[in-house]
Amino acid sequence: MDYVYDFSHGSKDQRDLLGGKGANLAEMTNLGLPVPPGFTITTEACRAYLRHGGEPEGLAEQVSAHLATLEGTMGRRLGQADDPLLVSVRSGAKFSMPGMMETVLNIGLNDESVVGLARQSQDERFAQDSYRRLLQMFGATVLHIDGEHFSEALDAAKKARGTESDLDLDADDLRGLVETFKAIVRERAGREFPQDPREQLDLAVRAVFDSWNTDRARLYRRQERIPEDLGTAVNIQAMVFGNFGMDSGSGVAFTRDPASGAQGEYGDYLQNAQGEDVVAGIRNTVSLADFAEVDRASHDELMAIMARLERHYRDMCDIEFTVERGKLWMLQTRVGKRTPEAAFRIAIHMVDEGLIQMDEAVTRVTGEQLAQLMFPRFDESAERTLLATGMNASPGAAVGRAVFDSDTAVEWAERGEDVILVRKETNPDDLRGMVAARGILTSRGGKTSHAAVVARGMGRTCVCGAEALDVDAKAREFRVRGGGTVREGDLISIDGSTGEVFAGEVPVSAALVVRHFEGEKVDDDLVSAVARIMAHADGARRLRVRANADTPEDAARARRFGAQGIGLCRTEHMFLGDRRELVETLIVAENEDDQRVALDALLPLQRQDFTEIFEAMDGLPVTIRLIDPPLHEFLPDLTELSVKVALAEERGEPDEHDLVLLRHVRRLHEQNPMLGLRGVRLGIQIPGLFQMQARAILEAAADRAALGMRPLPEIMIPLVASVRELEIVKADILAVAAEVERSRGVTLEYSVGTMIELPRAAFLADRIAAEAEFFSFGTNDLTQMAWGFSRDDVEAAFFSRYFEHGIFDVSPFESLDTRGVGGMVEMGTRKGREVRPDLKVGVCGEHGGDPRSIHFFDEVGLNYVSCSPFRVPVARLEAGRSVL
Ligand code: ADP
Ligand code: MG
Ligand code: MG
Repeated sequence: MDYVYDFSHGSKDQRDLLGGKGANLAEMTNLGLPVPPGFTITTEACRAYLRHGGEPEGLAEQVSAHLATLEGTMGRRLGQADDPLLVSVRSGAKFSMPGMMETVLNIGLNDESVVGLARQSQDERFAQDSYRRLLQMFGATVLHIDGEHFSEALDAAKKARGTESDLDLDADDLRGLVETFKAIVRERAGREFPQDPREQLDLAVRAVFDSWNTDRARLYRRQERIPEDLGTAVNIQAMVFGNFGMDSGSGVAFTRDPASGAQGEYGDYLQNAQGEDVVAGIRNTVSLADFAEVDRASHDELMAIMARLERHYRDMCDIEFTVERGKLWMLQTRVGKRTPEAAFRIAIHMVDEGLIQMDEAVTRVTGEQLAQLMFPRFDESAERTLLATGMNASPGAAVGRAVFDSDTAVEWAERGEDVILVRKETNPDDLRGMVAARGILTSRGGKTSHAAVVARGMGRTCVCGAEALDVDAKAREFRVRGGGTVREGDLISIDGSTGEVFAGEVPVSAALVVRHFEGEKVDDDLVSAVARIMAHADGARRLRVRANADTPEDAARARRFGAQGIGLCRTEHMFLGDRRELVETLIVAENEDDQRVALDALLPLQRQDFTEIFEAMDGLPVTIRLIDPPLHEFLPDLTELSVKVALAEERGEPDEHDLVLLRHVRRLHEQNPMLGLRGVRLGIQIPGLFQMQARAILEAAADRAALGMRPLPEIMIPLVASVRELEIVKADILAVAAEVERSRGVTLEYSVGTMIELPRAAFLADRIAAEAEFFSFGTNDLTQMAWGFSRDDVEAAFFSRYFEHGIFDVSPFESLDTRGVGGMVEMGTRKGREVRPDLKVGVCGEHGGDPRSIHFFDEVGLNYVSCSPFRVPVARLEAGRSVL
């Protein structure tokens, strides 16, 4: 088994095996770019290690062989006393997990080779600086010593020098720090820092493997839906040195602005620094323009390489580079993460530049990104107090109470508060707090800082580097330069699109994209990018998109948003409010005449509901589900009513009406209402109820038709398990329909179909299709029934354990369980069409708006998905992406 690949033996398409970093290092190597040589230990080796709790057989020998080759190329041995080869050991999984996993630089230094390095480089300060960095990184990541111990010692050394900058520490200071760091290792890890270079290397590789399973890495994977079982690759690479004086440095860059998508390079550079310093925000970085002033030749070479990489990858790339004494080295590239607005702009710019076609542009953006562009923005006309302006690191408008640590963020969020996490800068341990917060605000670091990168990845609003804020986490407050203090719990508003930070709560207004969907003429380049991509997706997609809408207003909005009909119009809310009393009368009716009176009173109200919905959806199909929930939901609570009756009796003034009601509440009380008298069962138990609804629908349709409109009702029967159930209620509906057509003298275009939301119905779909003119998969109930758990109870009860154990990586209520529940959807569709080839099949329920699920529904050949009006554009886009 080959566990190790030289950089010259891989390509960008091998991310599964080499991880993203390794695959792209190989790609750059093969493009002839200046990449320090090295090799990659595969993800397969990591998986084997994690499985067996130890290095797989043969790994050590293969590493030795590749190391020997590298030593040959470099003309030096790892840690060689008089002239050491140093290497970095870098994690790199298939999907990038910024800051989640470990990297150790300067492996190969020890008490002896540091002297050799100093002599060779004729730079004692540089050699000691490299050694103290190794001790610090190795101590923290490999020996698991709290990084604070090292940074406190570093701060103390700076303080003793009377400086804030690590650059002011001289060789002696750094030599002192090396001794201090070694003592910290001894004390905290209970062992000496390993002097043997190969042992350093092996331990570092092991630490990278182990870092796959840290809590924060797991949490990040769950957030980003990255599978648990991929493992990471490990890259071992000859060091180049950005900390070799002021003609050296390290930087990160993007080929376009990852926040706005604007054309033109974007990046940060830090002189005399190693890579970690740039993102850690220890000193303030300079822009690429300033880098050009510092080192014109390296800058120009970098620009040329970036242009080449963008053409090669045909996408925006991000890049990590280092300059060692005027020589540029490429240390990483990948297709860069970007904000939603950048994604749309970049895709369209690249089409216009001829780099990609429209088909590909559609696949470069996601429904989730579109959903984020639809979030509200701060109202610009509202009065607001600007506190500071930082970097617009991740867009959105977030309002919340300022909190200064992760624990508080999580705690407050759990009790329902919106919070903004405020930090000087974030580190991977802040992830929990970032997840819990509405937004993140930092006072240090640029668009490539940890906070910015992670926030963009999660779609959290983020403003970073707001330098006018003095964040004091201990005191739980920040002071604003120019006056004012914001304390824990105070409301603030942050705008991740402009970088502005406001005091108090600023009101929000609709996003431009939403105003465009609403039909307003909006002159904006982002809106036109979205419009072009949507038009192309609409032209390509096979799947139709309908909306779940129960009111005329929702129906009208859904139509403006591009819905091609209503896939689910629920009728139960039409029985609430003032009408509840009529339902009560219906339920307590002792005979058919009393029932009739109640139903007759409900009929005109129902008719009016449907009339308005048909008007909003004229010419488009409207699927109306007959009443579904158990009747007791329309009655008073059993306990409350019992108490009321008991109290009244005690007073000796029993209320006759309440007594009757109580009897019925008792009669209808169910241990397990989800599995009780509901759906079609109600229709069979109280036939007049479904008949009344059918009449209201069909009379409303007849009224519209008489006015020259084209109502297209689809009457849907819920919770059918047996074809007989459907036959019985369908016969009633057909009788009503015939009567309405006769009395009104019209022919109605309508159909009668069923929900498929019970496993039995999916199994017997061929029989059911004999009666049903359409199917709609109710995947919410189908998921509950298939797994045998109730959505309302289980998510809080035990889902987190299920995630931990990898039983599922996302809630089956959020994204369709394609194997189990999806298997029933596939089978039901296939069986139904065997009997009725033109059977129209759709899906209603939360899954209709979920991107992953939409792709599945498209693959199994459904005709449409139905989702909430606001998700309609998202579903249109995803349906387009599914075929492209
Ligand atoms: P991450 O995945 O967290 O970005 P990396 O493995 O990319 O971690 O390492 C972080 C930084 O360390 C790099 O951006 C680079 O600046 C520096 N680095 C890594 N390997 C080397 C090397 N061989 N020579 C010089 N610097 C390196
Ligand atoms: Mg990196
Ligand atoms: Mg249902």
